[in-house]
Amino acid sequence: MCKKMMQGLSVIIFFVWHIQLIAEPMNLAIARKHVEDYYDSGQYTLEMNKIIDRAISYFSSCCSMDVRKPAIVFDIDDTVVSSYQRSKEIGFGFIDSLYRSWVAQAELPLISETKRLYDHLVACHYHIIFISARPWYEKDVTIRNLKHKGFTVFDKIILRTPEMMHMTVKSYKSLMRKRLVMQGYTILASIGDQWSDLCGGYAEHLIKLPNPMYIIV
Ligand SMILES: [Mg+2]
Repeated sequence: MCKKMMQGLSVIIFFVWHIQLIAEPMNLAIARKHVEDYYDSGQYTLEMNKIIDRAISYFSSCCSMDVRKPAIVFDIDDTVVSSYQRSKEIGFGFIDSLYRSWVAQAELPLISETKRLYDHLVACHYHIIFISARPWYEKDVTIRNLKHKGFTVFDKIILRTPEMMHMTVKSYKSLMRKRLVMQGYTILASIGDQWSDLCGGYAEHLIKLPNPMYIIV
C-alpha cells in the first residue's frame, strides 16, 4: 500500500516538475539576443521592405483617388525614427526619463524603409500627418529631428496635450483621428509599430510595422 502511494507520489512530483519546466518563461538574456539577432541579421529590414513594398504598390494605384483631403497618418517613434541602437545599449526595456533624453537630443536615426514610403506618398500629394504619444513640450525637438532626417513635408504634427496625458495611447490616437476626419480629412491609412497606433477606427487601412522591443497600449 505504502509502495503504491510512493509510486503515485513520484508520478505527481514528476508531473508538477515537468509543468514547471514548461511554464518557465524564456530567459531574459536569450530574449534580448533574439531581438538583437532579428535586427542585426537583416530580418527586420527584410520584413519592413515587404510591408513597405506592398503599401507603395497599393498607394500607387490610389494616386488619383478622388476623395476629400486624402491623408496618411504616421506614428513617429520606431515608425519613422528608430530607438533600436539606444535601446540595445541599455539592454532594452523602457525607461521614460531616458527616452525623453534621447528625444531631447533630436538625433534619433530615420528608418529608411518608412522614409521610402513617405517619399512616395509626398510625391503623390497625400496629406501627411504625424500623431505621436510624445508630450506637447517635445514639439520643437520632434520637428527638428524629423526635418533633419528629411521628413520636411507634412500638414500637422500632433502630440499629447497635458489633458491627454492620462489617456491610453489607443484612446488618444483614435480621438485625434476622429478630429482629423471632422476637419475634412479622409484617412486612407494609419501606419505604426504598435497596435495602439492603429486600433480605434477612423482609418481605412492599418499598416503594422514590426517592433519586438516593447508594447504600448
Ligand atoms: Mg511608435
